[in-house]
Amino acid sequence: MEKIEAYKCQYCGKLYKTMKGCIKHEERLCTKHPDRTPYCYHCQFYDPSYESDSREEITYYVTAGYDGREIPQFKKFEPNQCTLLGRKLYNNTRLSDELQEALQESGYQPMPTPQSGGCKHFITKNQSK
Ligand SMILES: [Zn+2]
Repeated sequence: MEKIEAYKCQYCGKLYKTMKGCIKHEERLCTKHPDRTPYCYHCQFYDPSYESDSREEITYYVTAGYDGREIPQFKKFEPNQCTLLGRKLYNNTRLSDELQEALQESGYQPMPTPQSGGCKHFITKNQSK
């Protein structure tokens, strides 16, 4: 057995062998980073969809190989909604550009986060009406 040095993400606690890897994760990938946490989950206008049969299949295309062929890919999404704006929402932290484009064409919009400029409609769920 050998003892190693590791770096820990300050937001989610994930461990990395290199400082570089940990910095990259914290700055760009960590889903627990407060600047990337969507407002929607704590907003009274958020309507999560829990029914698995209401999932919507989104088709998107990924360019592959040297000939630039476009390969169709499929991914299912739960149409979570903003009841105020009547828009379907997706959490964009981990999705590829191709997939985000396809989602936007299907009427989805990314959930607002502090990093993306916030949301002017946000009202905390617990707030009394
Ligand atoms: Zn993390």
